Amino acid sequence: MIESVEELCARLVRFDTTNRGHGQGRGERVAAEFVADRLTDAGLKPVLLERAPRRSNVVARVSGARPELPALLVQMHLDVVPADPDEWTVHPFAGEIRDGYVWGRGAVDMKDMCATVLTVVSRWAAEGRVPERDIVLAFVADEEDTGAYGAHWLVVDHAELFEGCAAAIGESGAHTVPTRRSDGTLVHLYPIGTAERGVSHLLLTATGRAGHGSRRNDDNAVVKLVDAVHRLAAHEWPVHLTPAVRAFLERTGAALDVPVDLSSAEGVDATIARFGVAARMVENTVRNSTRPTVLSAGYKVNVVPGLAQAQVDTRVLPGTEDTFLGEIDRLLGPGVRREFLTDQAPVQARVDSPWFDAMAVALRAHDPAAVVVPYCMGGGTDAKAFAKLGIECFGFAPLRLPEGFDYRAMAHGVDERVPVDGLRFGVEVLDRFLSG
Ligand SMILES: [Zn+2]
Repeated sequence: MIESVEELCARLVRFDTTNRGHGQGRGERVAAEFVADRLTDAGLKPVLLERAPRRSNVVARVSGARPELPALLVQMHLDVVPADPDEWTVHPFAGEIRDGYVWGRGAVDMKDMCATVLTVVSRWAAEGRVPERDIVLAFVADEEDTGAYGAHWLVVDHAELFEGCAAAIGESGAHTVPTRRSDGTLVHLYPIGTAERGVSHLLLTATGRAGHGSRRNDDNAVVKLVDAVHRLAAHEWPVHLTPAVRAFLERTGAALDVPVDLSSAEGVDATIARFGVAARMVENTVRNSTRPTVLSAGYKVNVVPGLAQAQVDTRVLPGTEDTFLGEIDRLLGPGVRREFLTDQAPVQARVDSPWFDAMAVALRAHDPAAVVVPYCMGGGTDAKAFAKLGIECFGFAPLRLPEGFDYRAMAHGVDERVPVDGLRFGVEVLDRFLSG
């Protein structure tokens, strides 16, 4: 008897795998052991790997009928971000199923996909089916922090587990983005992630001459830093259309029947403004960004400090890495030093590829109205780790969502939940895609 996908998802939610960052949190072990048991029940031989106690990763390989084909990696994470029960309608770790939804932290990020994948492999075992190619399943730790106990560790210390994998699917993509045309017709957009901006967190340091606040000081670290931070924040980064974004704009524009003008920055911005709710899928990925987030300097109002620091969240589009840093340095000017707190390169898979086409076919098989488009993620996932192995990474976690369901407010938000029929749709789409 196979457990329903919603029950599996609810059970996974009940394992509190909160990741508080900096190695703090409960760890993923209880969830990992549960997943490993399910995989074993499905006839697989999962391995549990921990870089530190309780920070567990589970990896298993499903042998395909045609091992000569390139293998496919399915990468998921078991950890979740914190949730404050006082803010929620239900307890975030109760794993309740009510009103057609599974409620709880991790319901869309991303115990939903863990549950759909476990359901697919259990079904294969029960029906005696095997996929065409080898499928590697990775349920990892620590995605919600640095990945140092999860994907980024595995690709360095256990790269052999991913031998032969040419492509990977993971979170952030293939969920319905229901969008209205101007005539009211509903369009079922399904954006598949084919790229991610790179993430660099910069620490800026200005030094100067410390002294009394009442005296003239032409070498004030606070002034130098504030000027540089302002130049960086106020800079209008140019529009740069990556292949994923260009294809998204052209194909979404055609589906929504709105004019598409990609000949200038104004044209691009005006095009995006016509996209309705789908604008959110692209508005942050037509430009690089440099957003100051942390400032620190000084300790007393009448003392000029000798040092001032700022942190800046910077995001870089694939193909612009070479010029981006040079431009940042020009804006910072002399007297401000920069160093990286985080530096993860952008990732990019092919938009026009057999992988993408097969994903689109699987989606359309179960939603004939699906309009499948590529898109670029504004932030990042564990794809950044797996791409280092030369694996082409896609955001493909199929889920059917009703109109008005604010998917983006769910991940890391209050009252995170996922529709039960959306999960069932995910099982069917994944079964089809992974079998082929
Ligand atoms: Zn996630």
